[in-house]
Amino acid sequence: MFKHEKFNLLIFIVLVVLQLLGVIGLLTRFQLSYLPIMLTLFLWGGLSTTLYLHRYLTHRGFEMREWLKFLLANGSAVMLAGDPVTWVGDHRFHHLKSDTEEDIHSPLHGFPYAHMMWLIRKPDGFRERSKRYAADVRKIWYCRLFERSWIYVLPHLVVAITLWLTLGVVGMLWCLYVPMLIMYNMTWAVNSICHMPQFGYRSFDTSDQSRNNFWIGIGAFGEGYHNNHHAQPRCAAHGLRWWEFDVTRYVIWVFEKFGLAWNVVWPKESRATEPQPIETSPANVATSTLVA
Ligand SMILES: [Zn+2]
Ligand SMILES: [Zn+2]
Repeated sequence: MFKHEKFNLLIFIVLVVLQLLGVIGLLTRFQLSYLPIMLTLFLWGGLSTTLYLHRYLTHRGFEMREWLKFLLANGSAVMLAGDPVTWVGDHRFHHLKSDTEEDIHSPLHGFPYAHMMWLIRKPDGFRERSKRYAADVRKIWYCRLFERSWIYVLPHLVVAITLWLTLGVVGMLWCLYVPMLIMYNMTWAVNSICHMPQFGYRSFDTSDQSRNNFWIGIGAFGEGYHNNHHAQPRCAAHGLRWWEFDVTRYVIWVFEKFGLAWNVVWPKESRATEPQPIETSPANVATSTLVA
């Protein structure tokens, strides 16, 4: 159904160009000196999406320090991961309508739509609805500012220009656009591949098609255990078995130990080793602040 919606040419060009910069970067000569900056940006940008936008802001699986929230919100802007209000609103709606006709990035509409094209053909009124679903996020002053595109792109431009001036074009491509290329496709794969019956396994009998996928778990900082997540959306851990490697979970654990995060919704002890099917209820879908 979304194939007939208006094609947003600007967003399409931006997403293609950003990824092309990453691909061009991969074809240029790599220098070891890029690695620390590259890893820092990958970690900052990745955690900004998984730990901040998803597990904290969307599902409120824990509480954390204000300065940390601000730092991570800026990290998501540096990587152009999607402004917090839109990201949270879109994602809460996904949990409510997973793998139905209304779920804009379900593979039911085809792989390209589930992966990237849903960002380019959002139906009329979709953005307004997302704003309502993220009403609590709109009360955060910097999230509200990031709704303005020209403000939202500033952290990205500052980082890109700084890298260009200090490391040259090749350094900028390797340190910023290669991590963005990986991060985009890993994050999008959670929506696409982790909802496809052909890939991965299920630990919980949820009403959607979600799957756990080890490889996407590695690349997307633990978000690949998407069936676990759909079964217990507020749980701060997505990897539940010892071998379900979940970097975001470990970082939240460290934050908790250092007093940077608290009120963490952890899985119950028995589930940490062997997931048991649980009842899915609307209360598990998102936060109590959800506005229908
Ligand atoms: Zn999902
Ligand atoms: Zn979620």
